[in-house]
Amino acid sequence: SSDATYCGRFAPSPSGPLHLGSLLTAVASYLQAKVNHGQWRLRIDDIDPPREVPGAAQQIQRTLDAHGLHWDGDIVWQSQRHDAYHEALLQLRQQQLTYGCECTRKALRQRQPDMLYDGFCRQRGLPFDDNAERFRQQGDTAVMVDALHGTLLCDDAHSREDFVLRRKDGLYAYHLASVVDDAYMGVSEIVRGSDLLQPSQSQMALFQALNVSAPTTLHLPVLVSRPGFKLSKQNHAAGIDDHRASENLTQVLTLLGHPPPDGLHTASPSTILDWATAHWDLQQIPAQSELQAP
Ligand code: GLU
Repeated sequence: SSDATYCGRFAPSPSGPLHLGSLLTAVASYLQAKVNHGQWRLRIDDIDPPREVPGAAQQIQRTLDAHGLHWDGDIVWQSQRHDAYHEALLQLRQQQLTYGCECTRKALRQRQPDMLYDGFCRQRGLPFDDNAERFRQQGDTAVMVDALHGTLLCDDAHSREDFVLRRKDGLYAYHLASVVDDAYMGVSEIVRGSDLLQPSQSQMALFQALNVSAPTTLHLPVLVSRPGFKLSKQNHAAGIDDHRASENLTQVLTLLGHPPPDGLHTASPSTILDWATAHWDLQQIPAQSELQAP
């Protein structure tokens, strides 16, 4: 297919080096951008300073470069986008789509063991300062169009939750930052792991409220160390070894249902990626939600 306006992105958090699971997401989103003759942008999701690891953002860039995953345009740093998040928040306030919330996690857990917010502060008119600020859902059903999962209605309890936009400590929440930036960058398709299937559905209502057309999505199977355990920095997945780029790409493409021919295993990253671009076919991606890491 050919779509001049296609824009994809890879949006790692700089909380550590990339691991095989994040490389898989990077490769799939890169290939989607290439086969659609679009842009592939890099965004560093550095909105949560306590979770950042010094040097991780630079290391992520080196890893992408070493693997031939060259992004288009300038990097978007979320740490430099606070004005835009603030503006979006004001826009939502003006539409009365936010409210102050003073509920602690502990208080919520006592009322709602599943931790889904119950709207306790919805009608209380609490100030925004010194409180968290939540999104006031309107109850209309957003739709999410996913390249692998089909069309999903965002009408379950999770999707309808009044999620936090700005935390009590003043930090902007992931949903707000991600949606504002995807809109700003002109992202037309979000490629991410299916561990974010639910968060994506929550985000659809926010695109709607901000009056931007929501991107389509492509939720990939997630790499696990064993069933139910996603490879992640939190559970100490090994960082990518940049000196084994061709091997890493071969591994990731094989997991994605696109094993490169034997002769290519030791080829340069760009040769492997060219082959993958020529052979990329969404139908080949395994249908299961979890893939066992090698
Ligand atoms: N930065 C987040 C992560 O690494 C979110 C990525 C996304 O929005 O797709 O999980």
